[in-house]
Amino acid sequence: FEVYGAPVMSNRGKLKGIVIVLHDITELKKLEQVRTDFVANVSHELKTPVTSIKGFTETLLDGAMNSEPLRENFLNIIAKESERLQALIEELLELSRIEQSYFKLHWQNTDLNNILLEVYDLLKEKAAKKNISLKLEREGDTRLEGDPSRLKQIVINLVNNAIMYTSDGGHVSVVLKENGESVELAVIDTGVGIKESELPRIFERFYRVDRARSRNSGGTGLGLAIVKHLVEAHSGQINVESEMDKGTTFLLKFKKQQQNETE
Ligand code: ADP
Repeated sequence: FEVYGAPVMSNRGKLKGIVIVLHDITELKKLEQVRTDFVANVSHELKTPVTSIKGFTETLLDGAMNSEPLRENFLNIIAKESERLQALIEELLELSRIEQSYFKLHWQNTDLNNILLEVYDLLKEKAAKKNISLKLEREGDTRLEGDPSRLKQIVINLVNNAIMYTSDGGHVSVVLKENGESVELAVIDTGVGIKESELPRIFERFYRVDRARSRNSGGTGLGLAIVKHLVEAHSGQINVESEMDKGTTFLLKFKKQQQNETE
């Protein structure tokens, strides 16, 4: 609590009483904490690849350059860490853009099934490399009001995660269904699963259940935070169900028509 006090005087200057204002600043403190944590997280995430790039560059300059295998190995690491850094910066900028109040969707009548087909083309090779079967199913009229590029971003993130967190030989299916005034999308995988206690946190910025696994697969920990924002910007809902070592299902629900379109 923040406490303010002030005396109340009578017309003749005598003390009549004291007014005390108690201001509950729990929410404010929480927001401040979230901001501080975020800055700490960003700094840490940026520092890790930079430290690695710096270290390997110095080792090369100190003589490792003369050894052909070392040179190749170190340069590959530097290239990979630079890519990571770039992905991180791009996702941070994206998140910050989406969180700005002037962020607007470009509403269009969109068939979610077409978006699924595009995402399938983008990710089929990645799935094939891991021998993961990637299947699409569709039922009913799957057109809705939405921003096609943002809807695509949502689906790419979810399917990419499904492939990333599923072992070789597993299955990923994307099921699209008309349901009354809504269109529902399920991204189902037979992957590693997420513990129940972790589920509520996975949409937080930088939250990763297995930091090493996520890092190795090029994950930034920002994907689901971006997805959640974009789904909510569409007045949609996103839920997740998961069982350890069995798999995970992300369920999304979008209204076909928006009530208050901004554009
Ligand atoms: P990342 O870049 O690490 O994938 P995300 O924000 O996309 O970040 O996801 C946050 C965390 O949620 C991941 O690090 C992972 O631990 C978990 N996760 C997301 N999708 C899945 C999935 N399909 N199966 C298992 N775990 C998942």
